[in-house]
Amino acid sequence: MENLKNHSLIKRINRSKILNTIRQNPLVARSQIAGKTELDKKSITNFVTELLADGLVEEAGRREGSSGRPFTMLRFCEQYVVGIYIGPYFTRGVLLDLYGTIVSSYEEEYPMLPSRETILKTLENVYLRLTFGNNAIYGVGICLPGIIDLDGEIVIESVNLPSLNGMNFRKAFAGAIRHPFFVEEESAAIALGEKWFGVGRHYDDFICVELSGGIGSGIIYQRRLFKGAGKYAGELGHVVVHPDGKQCRCGNHGCLEAYASETAILPEFNKFLKKPLNRLAYYEPGTLPEAEFNRIRDHLAEEVGRGLAAVVNILCPRVIILTGTITDIFGESLIGPLKKNVEQSCLQGCFENTNIYISKLELLDALGAATLPLADIFEVPDYYYV
Ligand SMILES: [Zn+2]
Repeated sequence: MENLKNHSLIKRINRSKILNTIRQNPLVARSQIAGKTELDKKSITNFVTELLADGLVEEAGRREGSSGRPFTMLRFCEQYVVGIYIGPYFTRGVLLDLYGTIVSSYEEEYPMLPSRETILKTLENVYLRLTFGNNAIYGVGICLPGIIDLDGEIVIESVNLPSLNGMNFRKAFAGAIRHPFFVEEESAAIALGEKWFGVGRHYDDFICVELSGGIGSGIIYQRRLFKGAGKYAGELGHVVVHPDGKQCRCGNHGCLEAYASETAILPEFNKFLKKPLNRLAYYEPGTLPEAEFNRIRDHLAEEVGRGLAAVVNILCPRVIILTGTITDIFGESLIGPLKKNVEQSCLQGCFENTNIYISKLELLDALGAATLPLADIFEVPDYYYV
């Protein structure tokens, strides 16, 4: 029995090796796959026959090899995955091919604190718009902010989308989505997006921190999501940076989120703007006096630096990747002050190997959601180095 189990695991790993080789080398011959995977030619022929029958891979003409013998080239069939992010202000999605290229994207806005009905209707609209007339959808990934019980399939609490609290997402989303779908919490999905498409491609371990309406993080450890015993690891926004400080929306006092989230710093912007903003995303660069802009940024770096120092002391991450609306506004100029503050608050030995980057990926939340169906094709759970 054990042997049989191992056999099927090895088979899955080898199949995954072949699929990943095709993903990284569009148009590749069977013999080239052999060179890149060290699998024997017979196994490759068998696996490729299976992938052709499954409709994942197709033959794409012949090409002359160096020996003069023609090779049949392989590529993915026209198959797609969808990633959808349900956010506080909008729901947006992307359609990707199996190489991970964005084919199209679509977004629909709604007022803050949307009803459950509005959210589900918008989800359906975005999904239909992206998949219209397309018969080759492998699967759909969906991510949303909040405490999500993935095993119990319940949204326990979403501060930004409270109408979803207590909702069984499997049942609710099934009303809108007609393909197999996968669900993940937003910060975790964002970290997966970086792992597949961003700076995270080059690292086994890293932390992706989102500075937006809320503050959260996704931890990638040895190429997989680290979730912890309660499965909600990464709640950086609720690390206390000021004991007995401001009340946080979680009920506790002095959390980082109460000092460095969009809600916390928007009033600082509005003090100096002729027309107050209700979302930081509407900020037009240059409309704030430079000195004030820099002051807000440096203060933010102090607060976030305290929170990150705790993370660095505990995990010594190789890389911290920042993303979110706040990061978009301050950009690279945030890195210097942030590094200075992290360094001041943590052990030198812990920080000297840590680098901080700003994510360069657009639509990262939706991209992250799209990695869920991609993982179902290309990854073998617990074996992330294929
Ligand atoms: Zn809190």
